[in-house]
Amino acid sequence: MFTALELLDLAVQVEINGEKFYRQALGRVENVEIKAMLAWLAEEEARHRQAFETVREQYRKAKRSEAIPMLHEPVLKAAMGRHAFSLDDLRIDSIRNEDELIRSAIVFEEDSIQFFAFISSFVSDKRALSAIEEIRKEESHHIDLLSKMIQRPDRRFSKEWKMDKPVENFWTIRLNSLKETLEGNNFAVYIAENATAARKIVREEIVPKIGARSVSWGGSMTVVETGVYEDMKALPGMEIIDTYEKGVAPADMIERRRHSLLVDLFITGTNAVTEIGQLVNLDMTGNRVAGITFGPRNVIILAGRNKIVPDLEDAMLRIKNFAAPANVMRLDKKTPCLKTSICEDCRGPDRICNTWTITEKSFPKGRIRVVLINEDLGL
Ligand code: SF4
Repeated sequence: MFTALELLDLAVQVEINGEKFYRQALGRVENVEIKAMLAWLAEEEARHRQAFETVREQYRKAKRSEAIPMLHEPVLKAAMGRHAFSLDDLRIDSIRNEDELIRSAIVFEEDSIQFFAFISSFVSDKRALSAIEEIRKEESHHIDLLSKMIQRPDRRFSKEWKMDKPVENFWTIRLNSLKETLEGNNFAVYIAENATAARKIVREEIVPKIGARSVSWGGSMTVVETGVYEDMKALPGMEIIDTYEKGVAPADMIERRRHSLLVDLFITGTNAVTEIGQLVNLDMTGNRVAGITFGPRNVIILAGRNKIVPDLEDAMLRIKNFAAPANVMRLDKKTPCLKTSICEDCRGPDRICNTWTITEKSFPKGRIRVVLINEDLGL
């Protein structure tokens, strides 16, 4: 027998299946129009998943988990008929060409709509119903776009959504392309729609998988802005080496930073990410770039989309002409760029630009996880 909460679990699973399907499909097509469409659809499914998770959380908090008599899984699948496709972990191995892929996507979207219509009859909460209805409409729009695309041999019917949402479209394509490039460089990569989603990915997807027992961080505004810093400190049973704590004596802070290089999980940001998949950083003390390079068993890099640059030259330009002077201002260092905002290659003790690193690949594979965030964060 299902409860309303369990039906919402299934709704979340449908969206997870959808996102996975579209991301796997991305690797199987050459056509850039279809690629862009699939990347966008993957993001849409991720956004829907988050919406269902929010509804589920509201249900949990309200302690609403009324059981629905006679609704067992076989009954549910039977009621869905051929529309049970979306409830299963979708496999795309057997899909032979672009046409089949688009048709499978349409079937998936139809099944999702059918499923959401079905669960609507068991959900009484008005907010939940309106969220389900909104998602149903969006899935229906996906079907329209996919159907138009399949009718055009040149596959150019994704024009409509590009024109509707040009900025979203731009970043969807850019982030997905960077994800693929970074994965090719052995980084594990996640895309988050915003800071809240990034926080959730770290807390609910990455940390449980790693099984870390100790955590620390390298200087990063993004780690604080996303709320990841607060989340990590609240984790029960986790040894915390807090290198952000205020009022710690300098000698003690150096010791903490030394110890932070041996933790299970090291979390920080990056000064730049190039479009060929390099992480580029410049440090004052060196503890942040040291942790990224070697020591901690796992590293999470949180990177807002403002960190993306075309190449190494632009990365260095960005860092020396923007990130470093802005950090000097944030930290109130006594350097010439504090007043001029321009790097003057200073030599005093407050200089924050001492050690560069270019992380071309993650070694071993997957040790560094990069969360690309679809909004501007940090410096
Ligand atoms: S080298 Fe000195 S002047 Fe240049 S950005 Fe760094 S701190 Fe500022």
